[in-house]
Amino acid sequence: MHSTSVKELLSTPPASQEVTVNGWVKTFRSNRFININDGSIIHNIQCVVDFESLDQHLLKQITVGAALRVTGKLVESQGSGQAVEIQVTDIFVHGLADTEDVKLTVLSPKKHSLEFLREQAHLRVRTNTFGAIMRVRSALSFAIHQYFQQNGFYYFHAPIVTGSDAEGAGEMFRVTTLDPKKPPLTEEGDVNYKDDFFGKETNLTVSGQLEAEAYAMALGKVYTFGPTFRAENSNTSRHLAEFWMIEPEVAFNDLDDNMDLAEDFIKNVISYVLENCKEDLQFLEKRLLDEEKTKPQIERSEMALIEKLEFVSQNTFKRVSYTEAIDILRNSKPNKKKKFKYLINEWGADLQSEHERYLVEKHFKCPVILFDYPAKIKAFYMRLNEDGKTVRAMDILFPGIGEIVGGSQREERLDVLKEKMETLGIPEEELWWYLDLRKFGTAEHSGFGLGFERLVLFATGMGNIRDVIPFPRTPQNAEF
Ligand code: ATP
Ligand code: MN
Repeated sequence: MHSTSVKELLSTPPASQEVTVNGWVKTFRSNRFININDGSIIHNIQCVVDFESLDQHLLKQITVGAALRVTGKLVESQGSGQAVEIQVTDIFVHGLADTEDVKLTVLSPKKHSLEFLREQAHLRVRTNTFGAIMRVRSALSFAIHQYFQQNGFYYFHAPIVTGSDAEGAGEMFRVTTLDPKKPPLTEEGDVNYKDDFFGKETNLTVSGQLEAEAYAMALGKVYTFGPTFRAENSNTSRHLAEFWMIEPEVAFNDLDDNMDLAEDFIKNVISYVLENCKEDLQFLEKRLLDEEKTKPQIERSEMALIEKLEFVSQNTFKRVSYTEAIDILRNSKPNKKKKFKYLINEWGADLQSEHERYLVEKHFKCPVILFDYPAKIKAFYMRLNEDGKTVRAMDILFPGIGEIVGGSQREERLDVLKEKMETLGIPEEELWWYLDLRKFGTAEHSGFGLGFERLVLFATGMGNIRDVIPFPRTPQNAEF
């Protein structure tokens, strides 16, 4: 049967035409006003029933959460709050809502804690907040593909199961079909992975970068957008064990080109949601304001959500070298007053999120790109600078988030790369193919990784990464 979405109905001029809509009951007031939502938009459509003429049995079935098909006339609304409403002529109940089950409370308009909703992740998306978040998430994904496709990039699918454990981006999840109770053993008594499915040790990917480099060295500009896995036992509001990452890689780009690309890309996708997700952002902005009312003044954001997104999309990111950043941090108030958990004493220190957030939120008050990090605290594949101690790395730091992007110009010189791997004890056999790329037409090239959920966190104003992915995977938690 032909039906129209709530989104479409709300922007249709009412002329008493017959319409049909499918959706779930949000509220039912005075036996007369059914508010229906179908997920197409944050707003509901009001359906007005004449309960005197409605079958009593049917009336009882219309409860919060039930799935209905409603037919009626689209008319100008009598009440305030909505432009149009449906004068109901027919109702069909697709499915009842179990009013005995306490989980039904998730669907009621009552406010619930985000922690509680996480336990009901299959139902939370029916709430206004999660509906809005997931629509913004979807729009951002589209904007990401659109940006790259319009700028000459090819979408590259990196493997999920990888045979190299040298990527060094984080702890990995092993992939195996061996029986954990009695795995085949070598003569030395170790597990014999030669007998495993792939004939070697394999893991879930932590990054598609190394493979993307191979493709950039042929297709020129590529990007990945896929799931990545890190077995990091860090229970923070910024880390997931399974998250989605966007990794562009571009042949012939140096670090400056890489920073330009990252900045332009982020601004572009944020502008896209500002233009295309207005109503959801307005709702999320209000949610954030309400949430922050309960917090002390100093913990509240200086800007409302939409203003913050506009600020980021319109202002230049501040580019600062690691060395400059260390000077700023060393002389900062929290460092001198020993307020940082990790005090900055010398050049070479790894920056913790408290330092990153100080730079972005207190010192520069705008997104910051830090570059030229000490080689010692960065990955083996980053290009060594002339000074011999820093590498062409860059991280983008965002207010409220900390690191959102990590990238670099890659080491394209075979001899320098080999030397680096040797010092770090990375066997050449592991990455023979990666070294090959430096043997056959090597060239400078650069790329970065952007954690998709951290971008969604920023765009939605949410505080915990578990609330911007449908079914979060974190230590001790893989429900659903
Ligand atoms: P962090 O220091 O925050 O753990 P990282 O240095 O490990 O980040 P990279 O290896 O550079 O991060 O990964 C690229 C991007 O992927 C990061 O900038 C971040 O946006 C995102 N990211 C990294 N780890 C996670 C995670 N566990 N969950 C969600 N996003 C992540
Ligand atoms: Mn990490």
